[in-house]
Amino acid sequence: MFINDDVMKPPICCICGKIFLDNLAEGGKLVYFKKSEEGKEFEEKVKEGFVGHHPDTEWFCKEHLQAAEKYKKLELSEALKLLKLKK
Ligand SMILES: [Zn+2]
Repeated sequence: MFINDDVMKPPICCICGKIFLDNLAEGGKLVYFKKSEEGKEFEEKVKEGFVGHHPDTEWFCKEHLQAAEKYKKLELSEALKLLKLKK
């Protein structure tokens, strides 16, 4: 049996660290980036009942969502590099 110690991530913007758990209606969102090797492995594990945070997704608050959406054709690690430079 698979031991899951990777819990679902709470909605905290990965750029500015803003927690928007209580105001999702204001626009923060989980963004799916290009599927990485890690992401493919994760999806295989999900089929076997694994639950956790998808490695190709990150939360963004409404201020950073637009920029994040622009880079979602890239892998998450690449997108984050560009997004953090722009900050
Ligand atoms: Zn933010």
